[in-house]
Amino acid sequence: MKNILLRERTAGDIDDQVAKVLRGLGNPEPPLNLDDVRELLRLDLAYYSSTEDGVLKEVAHRLRVAGRQVLARPALLADAIKKWSLRALYLPDRKRILIDRDLPEPKQRWGEAHEVGHSIIPWHEGTMLGDNKQSLTPSCHEQIENEANYAAGQLLFIQQTFVKDARDLVVGINAVTTLNYPLEVR
Ligand SMILES: [Zn+2]
Repeated sequence: MKNILLRERTAGDIDDQVAKVLRGLGNPEPPLNLDDVRELLRLDLAYYSSTEDGVLKEVAHRLRVAGRQVLARPALLADAIKKWSLRALYLPDRKRILIDRDLPEPKQRWGEAHEVGHSIIPWHEGTMLGDNKQSLTPSCHEQIENEANYAAGQLLFIQQTFVKDARDLVVGINAVTTLNYPLEVR
């Protein structure tokens, strides 16, 4: 994916949202427990399997994702997940994160943090809705993905904590294992 740099102000706004979450959790020590994050934000988590058609159709059936279009044809979600090889998604109207359970666990963790990112960035609201005109332009989509990735990084690295830890630790295998926490599976 092409890397678009975030404008300083945008990054600052996202930093503020992440800081609010971390404060809400009492500024936790790493690794960040994403269950706690979801509980704080009242987010729901569900898994689907991109290799099991039945599970996917079942999930698709119960969700209202891309507005009326998907309501009328729930199989569209299943098609979209396959076509774009979606690995995780966030459904704002349900406050629900969906993760592909066939992903390796560290990637599930990243995907979950990325979707939490969408949920805490106020201007992302509504962007998952298929009939949102703004989200249809590829450059806008890329920007939004980039912002969610930035938020995920800020969350899992607990903002400046990682940088500080990296500076404090003596270089060696101990430092490497200690600094593994952003993608640590609990
Ligand atoms: Zn995304």
